[in-house]
Amino acid sequence: MSDEPIRLTEGMSPVARPRGKVLGHICEHPGCGCDAGWGFAKPRRPSHWFCFGHKADGENFL
Ligand SMILES: [Zn+2]
Repeated sequence: MSDEPIRLTEGMSPVARPRGKVLGHICEHPGCGCDAGWGFAKPRRPSHWFCFGHKADGENFL
């Protein structure tokens, strides 16, 4: 499994994706699925992303 965000080459995007505040990360809190603005990561570790309401969850990864 890769933690890399999906990158689509320009011109190959099969689906129009929302633009603007979406940064490509989704909150990892079970059942949430909100746009995640807070990332938590240690060096050489996968990053974990959470929304504002669940960013406390991410502190468990630090
Ligand atoms: Zn959330």
